[in-house]
Amino acid sequence: LVIAVSKEADPAEKRVALVPNMVPTLIKAGQQVRVESGAGQAAGFLDQQYIDKGAEIVTDRAELLKQADVVLQVQALGACGDHGEADIELLQDGQVLIASCDPLSFPDQVKTAAERGVTAFSLELVPRITRAQSMDILSSMATVAGYRAVLLAATASKRMFPMMMTAAGTLKPARVLIIGAGVAGLQAIATAKRLGAVVYGYDIRPAVREQVESLGGKFVELDLETGQSESSGGYAKEMDEDFYRRQREAMKKVIADCDVVITTAAIPGRKAPVLVTTEMVEAMAPGSVIVDIAAERGGNCEVTKAGETITHHDVTVLGPCNLASDIPVHSSEMFSKNVVTFLQLLVRDGQLNIDLDDEILRDTLLTRGRDVVNNRVRELLS
Ligand code: NAD
Repeated sequence: LVIAVSKEADPAEKRVALVPNMVPTLIKAGQQVRVESGAGQAAGFLDQQYIDKGAEIVTDRAELLKQADVVLQVQALGACGDHGEADIELLQDGQVLIASCDPLSFPDQVKTAAERGVTAFSLELVPRITRAQSMDILSSMATVAGYRAVLLAATASKRMFPMMMTAAGTLKPARVLIIGAGVAGLQAIATAKRLGAVVYGYDIRPAVREQVESLGGKFVELDLETGQSESSGGYAKEMDEDFYRRQREAMKKVIADCDVVITTAAIPGRKAPVLVTTEMVEAMAPGSVIVDIAAERGGNCEVTKAGETITHHDVTVLGPCNLASDIPVHSSEMFSKNVVTFLQLLVRDGQLNIDLDDEILRDTLLTRGRDVVNNRVRELLS
């Protein structure tokens, strides 16, 4: 099998789908690895490092994609916006594409890939089951995003995070609130704690209280009935507008008392709930900071502008997008491990074998036999 790793179509994307250290795993399994020249450069992985590990470097992108059995990308199809259009034309009939494709936001591009005869798998759809943990790119990238969000907050803040007892007096630690204690939120709690802040965590799912506390965070108790807030998959359920209104009311004072708020709250497949209103931002002390990791999904804060840093009422509000790309070495290493583990499910005796009895392959498969086979994408297209 020829496995191709192309340079990311979006020039702003710094990650690469396969790092040099993972090349030998594929070669030992009998596969050939071809990498587009410069594919790893933005993450600091040079062509020579790929060559040293046994990969071949190809300069011509069209040629690379033409001759591949499997194409690995971090972002593909609609996930890389307009930049992906040209690539779809280069994909071949019968070829397998494995990437993050954001199929629910960009179903039309999935359809085009199907029409070209591409068999596309989207890794964001990996089920959250124990066996699939090592393929779960959402968890990997959320880990990086949670860490990075705290660093951005610390840099934007007008205060230091730790308590300091100095000859010039005692400095109070920053008070940091993390809203949403999923994968990104828990990593944010751990990172803010390492920096010495007093950290508060809140999640609509009461089950995470223990996890927040085990990281040294204080769980914020709101007077809200949250018994029905968790779905069987361990995710938050979408609540009605009346619940969100009561939640905002209950959180008002907690937020006003914090120097930094990091919001990570999300509902799978839905727009992020608005938890911090304009009025709540205006009640924060001047110089406070909000980092809204949910910015790309509509934002948890009413004043967030995705991809921008704004100042509202002397509060700095950051709406960063694609935080994982800001730490490309480790995010690429994690992505590579996820994608190679996934690829191993697809290959038997050196040949591609798509076993749809396997829940992981079934859930991630978008297109096959010139059809869109993912039901959620089909619904969006109908
Ligand atoms: P996510 O990105 O969908 O959401 C982030 C967090 O926001 C969640 O913890 C959610 O409960 C919270 N949230 C939603 N609405 C909220 C509100 N109104 N107020 C406060 N918080 C709100 O979730 P995620 O981080 O991808 O994962 C969530 C959970 O999924 C994890 O905690 C874990 O239990 C489970 N998970 C399981 C596996 C596995 O078993 N392989 C892998 C990853 C995650």
